[in-house]
Amino acid sequence: MPKKSKVTRKRATPAAQQQLTEYRRKRDFSRTDEPRGGGARKGKKLQYVIQKHDASHLHYDLRLEQDGVMKSWVVPKGPSLDPTVKRLAMEVEDHPIEYNAFEGTIPKGEYGGGSVMLWDRGTYTYGGSDPDPIEGLRKGYEKGDFKFVLNGKRLKGSWALVRMRRPGKPQWLLIKHKDEYARTSSDVTGEHQTSVTTGRTMEEIASGASWVWHSNRAEPAATPATPPAKSKGSAYQRLMARRTR
Ligand code: MN
Repeated sequence: MPKKSKVTRKRATPAAQQQLTEYRRKRDFSRTDEPRGGGARKGKKLQYVIQKHDASHLHYDLRLEQDGVMKSWVVPKGPSLDPTVKRLAMEVEDHPIEYNAFEGTIPKGEYGGGSVMLWDRGTYTYGGSDPDPIEGLRKGYEKGDFKFVLNGKRLKGSWALVRMRRPGKPQWLLIKHKDEYARTSSDVTGEHQTSVTTGRTMEEIASGASWVWHSNRAEPAATPATPPAKSKGSAYQRLMARRTR
């Protein structure tokens, strides 16, 4: 098979199965229709999804496929198209790739209780300069400077996730890079209030619950994002300058 330049993935690996341990530990698959995950997938493009989740605190779950699982971040305020804005993104447990199709309602009192909407969905590619895109993504994740280009229905263009050096669970910042998809005065989460796949509102999803999620664990509470900096430069550039000092 000829080698393609675009980012590809292999079938689910033992490593991917290992990475889903925490996801599975939190869930009882005799009680939930959620995917157990780790199955093989035919598509070769890397998957991207954002789920809007009306749990104890409304938040957005950003998921980006890497090495057979969906790396996942809770973004309390959701994405911003403004390159001067940094949005807090708290890394949480890897999810199965099959989770990208989930939209529905989790019963109150269960893990992440509330409605889940597929807010945006699509694919992504590597956004850095490493000649090997898969290695570039791996190194970017390890270094905490993860550059990616979204090809969703609602979000497109160049983005970065930058990890902050703090103890405890990894906290990252989600930042839009300057490109033709950047917009300084916009409210993309306010503009899009319905499901990207079913067109349903949160209320319609809540009334159409059709499956049960069971867990004994509480989802980490969302915390407010840091306010955007006042200066006019790119948030990403200022952040990286600080990191290298
Ligand atoms: Mn969530």
